[in-house]
Order: sequence, then C-alpha cells, then structure tokens
Amino acid sequence: MLIVKKFGGSSVADKERIYHVAKRCMEDYQKGNDVVVVLSAMGKTTDSLLEMAKNINPDPSKRELDMLLSTGEQTSAALMSMAMGALGVPAISLNAFQVMMQTSSRYGNARFKKIDTQRIRHELDNRKIVIVTGFQGVNKYEDITTLGRGGSDTTAVALAAVLHADSCEIYTDVEGVYTADPRIVPNAKKIPEITYDEMLELATLGAKVLHNRSVEMAKKYGVQLVVRSSLNNAQGTVVKEETDMESMLVSGVAVDKNTSRVAVFGVKDIPGIAFKIFDLLAKHHINVDIILQSIGQEGTKDISFTVAREDADETVAILEEHKNRITAKKIEKNDAVAKVSIVGAGMQSNPGVASRMFEALYNAGINIRMIATSEIRITVLINEEDVDKAMRAVHDQFIED
Ligand code: ADP
Ligand code: ASP
Ligand code: MG
Repeated sequence: MLIVKKFGGSSVADKERIYHVAKRCMEDYQKGNDVVVVLSAMGKTTDSLLEMAKNINPDPSKRELDMLLSTGEQTSAALMSMAMGALGVPAISLNAFQVMMQTSSRYGNARFKKIDTQRIRHELDNRKIVIVTGFQGVNKYEDITTLGRGGSDTTAVALAAVLHADSCEIYTDVEGVYTADPRIVPNAKKIPEITYDEMLELATLGAKVLHNRSVEMAKKYGVQLVVRSSLNNAQGTVVKEETDMESMLVSGVAVDKNTSRVAVFGVKDIPGIAFKIFDLLAKHHINVDIILQSIGQEGTKDISFTVAREDADETVAILEEHKNRITAKKIEKNDAVAKVSIVGAGMQSNPGVASRMFEALYNAGINIRMIATSEIRITVLINEEDVDKAMRAVHDQFIED
C-alpha cells in the first residue's frame, strides 16, 4: 500500500510531537507500506514569519514573502527526517523544487499544475520514508510559490492523486470534522462521514479543518480522505463522494471572519453599472462573495457585497478611482462583520430551513445584514461581535444532542 499522511502545524509543534509523528509513520512503514509524509510548518511558525516580514516592510513583495514562508515547511520536513534517522528508519526530506511540484505563477495563492513523481518513486523504491514540504510549489520562473493559508492539505491530496495512493490521511489537532468548530461550540458532534460537496461548502465557508482546494481536488481525482487526530487513535471523518447515511438536514455550521462588506451608494439605476463595478474588481483578481442590490428609487440604487478582508482597502481604492464611471455617490466599507453558514445536502428537499435559521438568530437577538443561499447552504452576514453567540444558537437549532 502507498499511504500519504499529512500532519498540521500543531502536530509537529515541538520535539516531543515530532517524535510522536515519526513513530506513527514508522508503524506503517514497518508493515511494508510505502509512506509519503506531508508536513506543515511547526506550530505558529507561518504567523511568526509573516510578522517578521511586516516588521521589515509593511508591504513586502509577494515573491519574497513566498520565499520566506516556504522556509517554515522546509524546517519541519528536515527535522522530521532527522528524528526518523535517530529512530533508525531511512527517511529523506524533499522540498517542492526537488520534487518538481509545478504551480501557476501567482505568489501567495498558487495552484498546482503538474507534479513529477519520479523522485518520490525513486526514494520509495529505495525503501525510504519520503517527507515532502506542504504549502509550497515552483512556478514557471523557477520561483517558490505558496498555496494560500492552510495549503498543506492540498499538497497531500495532490500527491495522493498523482501517486495513486491507497489512502490519504489528514492528521490534525481535533478528532475529525465536527458539526461546528469544537473550540467555539463545545457540544459540536464528530461527523463519521461527509460528502465532498458538503465538505467543500463547509471549508469554503470558513471551517478551516480542511483547505477548500484540497477538497476540490479530492473530489476531482476521487481521493478518499480521512481526517483524524494526530494525538490519539479515535476514529476520524471520512470524506467521500457518497455517504451511506441518510443526508442530514444540516450537517454543519461554519463561520468566516475573514470578510468585509463594501457598499456603493447612489449609483444610477441603468443597465451596465453592476457589470462595470464587478468587471473592475475581477480585473484586479478580487473575489466577490455575497452581493445585494437595493430596489431602485428616484433613479438610483445601492449595491453592496462582501470581499475577503485583506482585499477590502484595495476594493474601496479601485472603486473610488472610478467613482464617476460607476456613477457612485459614496463608497463605504465595514470590517466588523462575519459570515455564519449552515450546510446540508438534506436542505434541497426540505422547505423552512432558512426560516428556522433566522428564528434562531432572532431569539438570540442577532441582526442579519445580508443573506445568500445555494442548494445546500444558507449564509448570513452579521456583526463580528455576535459571531460565537450566533454559531451556538444556529447549531443548537439544528443539531440535537
Ligand atoms: P492543522 O494545523 O492540522 O492543519 P488547522 O488549524 O488548519 O489544523 O485546522 C484544525 C482546526 O480547525 C481545529 O483546531 C478547529 O478549531 C478548526 N475547525 C473549524 N471548523 C471545524 C469543524 N467543523 N470541525 C473540526 N474542526 C474545525
Ligand atoms: N503553514 C501554512 C499555514 O500556516 C500551511 C498549512 O499549515 O497548511 O497556513
Ligand atoms: Mg490546516
């Protein structure tokens, strides 16, 4: 069997945990399996590196930032290989350049294009445990790129896909995927199985237990994932195409604080305005999420939408620059907001789910600022300060003990 095992930052945070992981990988190796290990940077290393960069230059070049951030994973991979060496197991660490994990050219948010398997195969054939740096790639300029925060999950799934792995295991600091973030909602329940589609929605809507692109890729290449704890042997969560269980009305609740609302007031109520606004943002690679347009009154209307918080200032600046062309009277942003979403395949065939969610928020005294829905999810935008309370209220409404 070929097994890909990915360990997140907290699972390799110190010497003791590194040895714990090394031993766990050894067990699989000693049974005769081929083992590929994907690692994140130790503990909060990536945050510290980001801070170091900002301290030197508040607006660092994205290329140099990736050069810096990629060192976190290189450190943990090398140390893991040393730990395995000390335990007497042959291991080798490889970075993205050595494997040749090719990505698109966008620094900070690159996507895999092609991954060479030759070097990894060669090392596995020599009966080595292969430890690969997560989160990084190489672009066509032979520069180091990174995949976006949480991207090591995607490295693991990509490797599992190209190596046709028999199993892809994501080890983290919780026992699996829960009905809500167990750190915010203490009575959240572990989900034994979840579909790619539901997991993709949850991950995209803020449940950071899996990087959303890892789920996208798992679905595309049919890689079955297991999410489980690196600290114990409890049964985790299987992420796959179809589950054996009856689909839950609501399988999970997610929150996303990385959002800002931008409002464009008083634009002319004529064709082409929405196109001009969103075309401008698309050209600057700014992703827009929930969009709300008011009913036109006296020839004008308001358009508001959400963007990732780090894009909010740039969004306002771009729109201010083109204020006349988009006929806006005023442009405003609000960072103190958050999204709360419910996800569930069972929603498609059950009316009244939205009203039950709104009822829970009303009972908790929480005001809703925007609403967006799809077939299997409902998202509301609320004040950031209400987010933990909202999450518990909505969770309790749908997920009984
Ligand atoms: P790692 O470093 O292992 O990649 P992350 O911090 O990226 O770990 O992801 C694990 C964290 O995701 C958990 O500690 C938990 O707080 C959070 N989380 C958010 N939503 C969920 C959820 N629905 N189920 C499980 N964990 C969740
Ligand atoms: N170390 C990176 C991060 O903190 C990647 C990862 O952990 O998946 O975002
Ligand atoms: Mg993660």
